[in-house]
Amino acid sequence: MADIPFNRPYMTGQEINNIQLAHQLGRLAGDGEFTQKCHDWLQKYSGCKKALLTHSCTAALEMCAILADIQPGDEVIMPSYTFVSTANAFVLRGGVPVFVDIREDTLNLDESLVEAAISSQTKAIVAVHYAGVACEMDKLKALAKEYGLLLIEDAAQAMMSTYRESVLGSIGDLATISFHETKNVISGEGGALLVNNPTLVKRAEIIREKGTNRSQFFRGEVDKYTWVDIGSSYLPGEIISAFLYAQLLQTKEITQNRLNVWNIYHQALQEYEKNRILKIPVIPDYCQHNAHMYYLIARSENERNFIIDFFKLHEINSVFHYVPLHSSPAGRKYGKVHGKMSVTDGISSRLLRLPLWLGLDPHDVLRVLRKGLKELNNSIK
Ligand SMILES: *Cc1c(COP(=O)(O)O)cnc(C)c1O
Repeated sequence: MADIPFNRPYMTGQEINNIQLAHQLGRLAGDGEFTQKCHDWLQKYSGCKKALLTHSCTAALEMCAILADIQPGDEVIMPSYTFVSTANAFVLRGGVPVFVDIREDTLNLDESLVEAAISSQTKAIVAVHYAGVACEMDKLKALAKEYGLLLIEDAAQAMMSTYRESVLGSIGDLATISFHETKNVISGEGGALLVNNPTLVKRAEIIREKGTNRSQFFRGEVDKYTWVDIGSSYLPGEIISAFLYAQLLQTKEITQNRLNVWNIYHQALQEYEKNRILKIPVIPDYCQHNAHMYYLIARSENERNFIIDFFKLHEINSVFHYVPLHSSPAGRKYGKVHGKMSVTDGISSRLLRLPLWLGLDPHDVLRVLRKGLKELNNSIK
């Protein structure tokens, strides 16, 4: 059997036609025709007040930190079990990530621990929807409202997922999406900021355009185009948007095809969960997920590493995931921990992710996994 990579970016085939069209149109800077099409698509999809493409989810998170008016010493509550950018974006503004433990079931921020972590310095809560499975948004929204905090969704992994019928990314004041090639819908590098809170729309446009009111100027709303605020260049060029637009139009099909692979894994692995050999993902019944990821949680770090090594021996690439940010060098320097991190620490050392991409035959992976688990079992006896 040929080598099975962990990820293989899916392309619809239409990307190249769109890029050719953008080339013909000859307008290659940002906010051209394809960017507008992507904005319209994202606004229709999420119902947000304003969708703005960025060159990454990281960039969109940095915009969130500026929009949240993070000042040195301001605190932002978030999980430690997340990607670097969730925290780094706020640290760039002098903010302090306050790491809170995650839930055993969804591996998302444990909403029951958030209130105790709120201080007079707290400015925002970042809900990261791990594996495209929603955080407990009703609770987080109520807390944000009660304490006057901004609620930001890091929906990097959550394209097409919902929480109680609401699209993820449509619930917080702000939300960010990633179109990195490791995500479901891609443009190589790419992202978007979704602005749901109408009071933040105007400033979001300015921040994205180097701190200028260029967008308003082009709409004829102001007669001068000038520097009005801090900002940076956060918008992608048209070539990226042209690529992305082809993908957006196939979002439904991509998601369905990923779900088919995910469901085969999930069905096949029930028995191992029942026999307490592995834990498999938990999807609350009010959440629709997008099959961004299929992960397993082994009983110990040793067993996890055994499985990864066994896969490697059979040319299948399964991988572990985040080193918790609170134990990373920069996380220790810039962040702080609130409460115990026992679930985060336990999970991160025992979790592995299975290959999941369009065109993969999950049975090839399952065959090797069964063999590996048998061998593991024999080695214990
Ligand atoms: C992928 C990811 C990001 C970063 O996305 P980029 O588009 O690569 O900047 C941020 N947060 C989470 C949770 C992610 O999974």
